Amino acid sequence: MGVEPKQLHVVFFPFMAHGHMIPTLDIARMFVAHEGVKTTIITTPRNAPTFTKAIEKTIKSGASSINIELFNFPAQEAGLPEGCENLEQALGPGTMDKFFKAAAMLRNQLEQFLEKTRPNCLVADMFFTWSTDSAAKFNIPRLVFHGHSFFALCALEIIRVYEPYNNVSTDMEPFILPLLPHEIELTRSQLAPDLWKYKESEYKKRNFAIKESELKRFGVIVNSFYELEPEYADFYRQKLGRRAWHIGPVSLYNRNIEEKIQRGKQVSIDEHECLKWFNSKKFNSVIYICFGSTIHMIPPQLQEIAMGLEASGKDFIWVVKNDDDLGGFEDRIKGKGLIIRGWAPQILILEHDAVGAFMTHCGWNSTLEAISNGVPMITWPMFAEQFYNEKFVTQILRIGVPVGAKRYTTAPSLEDVVNQHDIEKALREIMEGNTADGRRYRAKEFKKLARKALEEGGSSSSDLSALINELRCLST
Ligand code: UDP
Repeated sequence: MGVEPKQLHVVFFPFMAHGHMIPTLDIARMFVAHEGVKTTIITTPRNAPTFTKAIEKTIKSGASSINIELFNFPAQEAGLPEGCENLEQALGPGTMDKFFKAAAMLRNQLEQFLEKTRPNCLVADMFFTWSTDSAAKFNIPRLVFHGHSFFALCALEIIRVYEPYNNVSTDMEPFILPLLPHEIELTRSQLAPDLWKYKESEYKKRNFAIKESELKRFGVIVNSFYELEPEYADFYRQKLGRRAWHIGPVSLYNRNIEEKIQRGKQVSIDEHECLKWFNSKKFNSVIYICFGSTIHMIPPQLQEIAMGLEASGKDFIWVVKNDDDLGGFEDRIKGKGLIIRGWAPQILILEHDAVGAFMTHCGWNSTLEAISNGVPMITWPMFAEQFYNEKFVTQILRIGVPVGAKRYTTAPSLEDVVNQHDIEKALREIMEGNTADGRRYRAKEFKKLARKALEEGGSSSSDLSALINELRCLST
């Protein structure tokens, strides 16, 4: 008789933002697929539905090892309106720091929970820098999850240490990121202003705390696969000395249609209606446009996108917010375009053969979901590490075309508006001609590699098994 593997309890503590919660749920499901592993996901009451609906299905399928633990989110104590529990509601200037303050107040609840349950491992978001010390109090190893690619992790660290933005005199003058395997240029305008404008800022303090907690912690989980960015996976481990396990693309772990439509918020379109619309479209002909969970485009920008789309003559699916006013556009484009108001079943769309390109804000989840489905991208970064992801997609993987976004902003204004001609040009460039074919070919190759990485014996699946084995050894 074989020996039963030792039971493991892994606790996940994702930041309260969809781009962090969605991949965390995928990762938890990957963990519980291993025998003898149970997990708990910590969240707040208003964020709980993101997890509970999907977990109900997991329970029905017999794998009932994901539990949810609710912490009260002290919004009002931190000066936020009551009910503000998701970063999406707190992106305005000044509000974001309050949100981080409220998040830091979760420390006591976390420590009480760890003391009571004594799990074998805590996987906490990068923003919970203090959780390394909380876990250490109870001798629990802490893993960090940033939700970034290896490339972005390396680039962010190189920028933090070498401050190459000090070598230029204007915001638009490019500087090179030293030491990286490729020659990558950025401008100050593409970085968070708090990083380079001020000697001291909450942002800089946070960055420093993230690095400090990184060095003390047990290691890092990365949503990527080795074959996508081998030089940067090696650089991160060997040159930057970090312990890391790559286990992605985690979105590929959603195998059936129910899992695919239950990621994040309630989808705003019936999946059958969506698939029916696709059926009338040719292979690789539709452009999918979606800017993630947090970005609100201002009306003049919506107008420019609408006109650029119309002028390009391409078929499209465009995800907008519920209250976005598109003028008479919706009536004009009947048949050519599908507008989704609210939340789209993104991975179901990206995996459809009719999709030929993705116009994206370059959030890492969206970027990797496109890569996993072999879809070339029009890159339109705005904030966080999105400008790094644009460089990675357009210059290293060479499967993207930049729309020409120039300035880091969490709240786009008139000066950020990309005009219809640039949009139309990017739409044509990504879809037409030999260069477009080359991009598409490379994208399809990455799709195959992504899927292989998750197969038994593949690089991501092996790294996850190695991590689980190491945690089992530690807990004996
Ligand atoms: N997403 C989705 N439907 C939408 C918008 C977003 O399913 O209408 C999902 C998308 O598939 C991805 C996540 O939400 O998994 C967004 O994460 P990303 O890192 O791309 O961007 P963020 O929202 O963090 O800016």
